[in-house]
Amino acid sequence: MRYAAPLTTKEAVSLLANAKGKAFVLAGGTDLLVRMRGDYIEPDLLVDIKRITATQDIKKSANGFRIGASVPCAALNENAGLVKAWPGVVEAANLIGSDQIQSRCTMVGNLCNASPAADTIPAMVAAQASAVIVGPAGRRTLAVEKVVIGPGKTSLKKGELIEAITLPKRPAKSGDAYLRFIPRTEMDIAVCSAGVNLTLDAQGVVKAARVALGAVAPTVVLVPDAAKAIVGTKLDSAALERLAKACEAACAPIDDKRGTVEFRTEVAGVLARRAAKIAYERAGGK
Ligand SMILES: Cc1cc2nc3c(=O)[nH]c(=O)nc-3n(C[C@H](O)[C@H](O)[C@H](O)COP(=O)(O)OP(=O)(O)OC[C@H]3O[C@@H](n4cnc5c(N)ncnc54)[C@H](O)[C@@H]3O)c2cc1C
Repeated sequence: MRYAAPLTTKEAVSLLANAKGKAFVLAGGTDLLVRMRGDYIEPDLLVDIKRITATQDIKKSANGFRIGASVPCAALNENAGLVKAWPGVVEAANLIGSDQIQSRCTMVGNLCNASPAADTIPAMVAAQASAVIVGPAGRRTLAVEKVVIGPGKTSLKKGELIEAITLPKRPAKSGDAYLRFIPRTEMDIAVCSAGVNLTLDAQGVVKAARVALGAVAPTVVLVPDAAKAIVGTKLDSAALERLAKACEAACAPIDDKRGTVEFRTEVAGVLARRAAKIAYERAGGK
């Protein structure tokens, strides 16, 4: 197996595009190395992106935030501006693993590992995040919900990698939140999860919302009907009930020892309702 640690995205793309056999991008390695050690994959080439400057930092601009693909999840919490603007995205990233895992793992690695239960994906989808993809054909931007196409599968083409995640500029009176259910208090995989992002008008009425669910389908589900249920309301109990019902209707989960279909479906509605309340308070709603 060959290991390469290029200094530019262009070089990384060239290595991936010209690779013979199985080539993988290496970010934090907290999924990839586990899969290698378990003999689930046998890479011919690993392209470590951590030395590429364009992947290494968090930048704020007039358009929002740009989070480099090799920024460890632990670093998100240290960026006060990001925490203020996108607390839900940051809390989702900070739920991953332990302190040791946090210091290595990345949001992009979480996205590209493409687990239906990945913690950052529902929060990013709710936040309307985009992936900045670089490949042999150049650069393109893709909505995060279009990156994962099935368990363990992404829409990335040969030679492509994600250089960064972008989060849009935040309107005033906005808030987001992410909640997951796990049987333990930490170090577990979501049985079900929900991310909610919303913006209020001056009177505290929800004027825009996005609701996304994790671990209830092969990929994260964006639920426009759940958003519609709360837009135009102050999140009264009838609106929250409609939101929960819309979430339940969007669920098509697996039935396994970690959660039955009925359990996952009901909890999806409960988590979405609770996350919506937190997001509403964070947006300044009363
Ligand atoms: C003990 C432990 C606890 C964990 N707990 C959680 C948890 O609570 N919640 C959760 O969601 N996950 C959890 N995970 C899984 C894992 O830590 C996360 O998915 C993590 O975010 C992966 O990031 P990484 O940078 O380590 O990815 P890597 O392992 O480096 O890569 C993961 C996959 O993404 C690809 N990839 C990485 N970066 C790019 C890129 N820039 N462009 C294209 N492809 C790329 C790799 O080729 C690989 O296929 C846990 C793992 C462990 C070992």
